[in-house]
Amino acid sequence: MPPPVKLAIIGGGPSAFYVASRLLSLLPLKDPMSPPLRVHMYDRLWAPHGLVRYGVAPDHPEVKNCTNKFDATATDPRFRFFGNVNVGSTPLHSIPHVLHLPLTSILNNYSHLLFATGCTIPTLHPAIPPSVCCIPALSLVHWYTQHPSQPPPPALDKISHLTLIGQGNVSLDIARILLTSPSVLRQYDVSERVLDVLSRSTVKHVSIVGRRGPLEAAFTTKELREMINLPEASMTPIDPTLLTPPSGVTLTRQQRRTLELLQKGSKNLPGSTPKSWSLHFYRSPASLTPPSGASALELANLTLAHTLLDPATSRAVPTGETSTLPTSLVVTSLGFQADPETTFFDPALRHLRSSAGRITSSEGLALKNIYASGWAASGAKGVLASTMMNAYAVASTILSDIAPTSEAVTTTAPPPPEMGMAPDELLNRHPDLDALPSEIVHGIKDGMVFQYDDWKVIDAEEVRRGEALGKERERMGWDEALQFIALSRDARAALIG
Ligand code: NAP
Repeated sequence: MPPPVKLAIIGGGPSAFYVASRLLSLLPLKDPMSPPLRVHMYDRLWAPHGLVRYGVAPDHPEVKNCTNKFDATATDPRFRFFGNVNVGSTPLHSIPHVLHLPLTSILNNYSHLLFATGCTIPTLHPAIPPSVCCIPALSLVHWYTQHPSQPPPPALDKISHLTLIGQGNVSLDIARILLTSPSVLRQYDVSERVLDVLSRSTVKHVSIVGRRGPLEAAFTTKELREMINLPEASMTPIDPTLLTPPSGVTLTRQQRRTLELLQKGSKNLPGSTPKSWSLHFYRSPASLTPPSGASALELANLTLAHTLLDPATSRAVPTGETSTLPTSLVVTSLGFQADPETTFFDPALRHLRSSAGRITSSEGLALKNIYASGWAASGAKGVLASTMMNAYAVASTILSDIAPTSEAVTTTAPPPPEMGMAPDELLNRHPDLDALPSEIVHGIKDGMVFQYDDWKVIDAEEVRRGEALGKERERMGWDEALQFIALSRDARAALIG
């Protein structure tokens, strides 16, 4: 039988859960050939599921169905979850109540380590840094998902025209939420506090600006179609010359559909709805001049550089022309990068250094038993299905290391030929399988570390409160969850004892 394996996973998002789920199912508990195995997952957020809870737009509840699989994974007795624990150096935007665990405590207590830390830092635009009239999209997403970092609510009751920079799915998620009636959003996982701000919104128009053309837009057709079909908003028609593909170009299926949708225009005729939206192609932000402050109604001036596509590189290049877009608030939605404070972060890649699922040294050597998956390994791209496929491949790599003779090892991912295993072993070869780092033992005793059982209690209560209000769930914040869980732990302890 292979030697015991004690895997620490840093991060509790979808990539972390898909790796854990795959590994545990490939090494069944009852199979005598499976090594003794423990999988311990650490997340700095108190609730599990990362982007599924704090990123997916509330009006896409079907995307959250994967949590059923994650719940099933958590029932495996070899699995444990520790929430509200930050491993390693303090992140840029630390959450005050988080318990800090040095990476050395993980290295001393585990034989294997997976980084599934995602990409948590929004990309900013050098020409328009954050200010009173320019915020990153993440602030809005974290506000409407009630993320523990608690960004302030946007002053939607003071603005009429919001401009998103970037034409990815995050931009479209935000535009859709702002252009959908709160009476529709009320049925979903949107807290009453968020609905209250949305119901006082005076936003009438959302502009979505992209530096390249419709064929290069990063959004997917499903999300574009949802915009086109918004019941209470209409799209400003797009100059037809922009929607004619250059001759001799073979379009992909996605590009063809995008053009068809944009040519057809929105379900509602322009001018027939209280709200509207527009796509601005071949425009890149050059500067933002805030209002002088003389009048509350005055708008900021966003200067846009006109661009065209360099056919050789497909990059946007400035034409030298500019125009001005008056707007109340600019929201930059330019993608994300991994936290530069994370060990093994590569500034050139903007994510962790890894190859085929293995963390590599700066010399390109695979570090023994240290892995990376999901956005931490490959950058912020792809939908949930691609995260799952990546996680399964990383699970296969881990399996090929821990049980090379296992029949389940079908698609092993050995280090590329130019790499060898780094000689220094950073982890503990023979850890006590059931011991926890002392900081975690204390954190559990103090009630500050949330385990999966705690989460399921909160989860059930959030759903119960939601049902009472006729919606999917009503979320709890940290303080409320902490109080609620303390009572529930007391009740559970009384039942046992
Ligand atoms: P994204 O898809 O990478 O889009 C980023 C946008 O920002 C692109 O339009 C990009 O333009 C633009 N951009 C980047 N740097 C720029 C710069 N310096 N100046 C001007 N424009 C710039 O990022 P995202 O929207 O944050 O989404 C991240 C990932 O999550 C994507 O894979 C997305 O599909 C996924 N996601 C999926 C869903 C869903 O399935 N419903 C929802 C949300 C997010 P260029 O193309 O020219 O670089």
